Amino acid sequence: MKEMNAEQDFTGEASTSHHQKRQRRLPSTVEEEEKVGDVTEARSRTMFDLDLLDCPVCFHALTNPIFQCDNGHIACSSCCLKLRSKCPACALPIGNYRCRIMERVVEAIIVPCPNSKHGCTEKFSYGKEIAHEKECGFALCYCPTPNCKYTGVYRELYSHYYANHKDEDLWNCFVCGRSSGAWISTREKILILQESSDGPLVVLQCFNEPQGMYVTVNCIAPSAPGVGRFSYHLSYTDGDATMTFALEEMNRIQKVSWETPEKDFMLVPYYIVGQKAWLKMVICIRRLEEEKEVEEDESEDEAEEE
Ligand SMILES: [Zn+2]
Ligand SMILES: [Zn+2]
Ligand SMILES: [Zn+2]
Ligand SMILES: [Zn+2]
Repeated sequence: MKEMNAEQDFTGEASTSHHQKRQRRLPSTVEEEEKVGDVTEARSRTMFDLDLLDCPVCFHALTNPIFQCDNGHIACSSCCLKLRSKCPACALPIGNYRCRIMERVVEAIIVPCPNSKHGCTEKFSYGKEIAHEKECGFALCYCPTPNCKYTGVYRELYSHYYANHKDEDLWNCFVCGRSSGAWISTREKILILQESSDGPLVVLQCFNEPQGMYVTVNCIAPSAPGVGRFSYHLSYTDGDATMTFALEEMNRIQKVSWETPEKDFMLVPYYIVGQKAWLKMVICIRRLEEEKEVEEDESEDEAEEE
């Protein structure tokens, strides 16, 4: 079979019309795949502008069903709804006829997870990888240590942290189920805890806000099933007053942010905390159990009813 210069052959009409596109993961398959002989690989090598597979109206990846007007303009189903079935290009009705050939093309294009270069081997038909990316275990995480530029897959980050930051004053460990003091310097505003050696990293931060100190607790981990899932209980005591805050599931973040949190923070008012150099919090972190089997049972029930 003759290799075509696909870039030239396919970037005609359709792609020139929408070049103000969303940021796009490039089809890295082509640069990275080295396997030869595998049919899927060979096919995904035939490259063309993947923007052709995006809805020309909203620029999101096309997924089935895809509709066309009598003039052959296409749009995704959510755009058809928003446009009240009026083609944005020619004003003819759109939404009655499916564009079957485009649906087949979209299904036939297999793209790797955007994290394939970090080790994820999952592959998806076009557009489906976006949902996966949100819960991919290979999403990059950033070292929470101020001024450290390290990024890596979560496991490597945990090892990196233990190997590189253990000797600094900052290294503190936590043991699941045990309450322990967690003192945050109100100047540094960050305290990093690690479960044993190279275990998950939990970051406490405090924010000076007009109403008082906001305290947040996050785990540095991708939102992948079974990774870094904890609950926590936080308290602050001053004299006779004790304030507590608990969250059934700790939020997972890939990178420390210094933007004022909008939710999931504990507010310690200034009349209680005063102007102290240390915010002496007490924290108890617990690991959450997996809950995978429940879902499987539910799907069986549905099948029986039909
Ligand atoms: Zn659309
Ligand atoms: Zn049209
Ligand atoms: Zn992935
Ligand atoms: Zn680091």
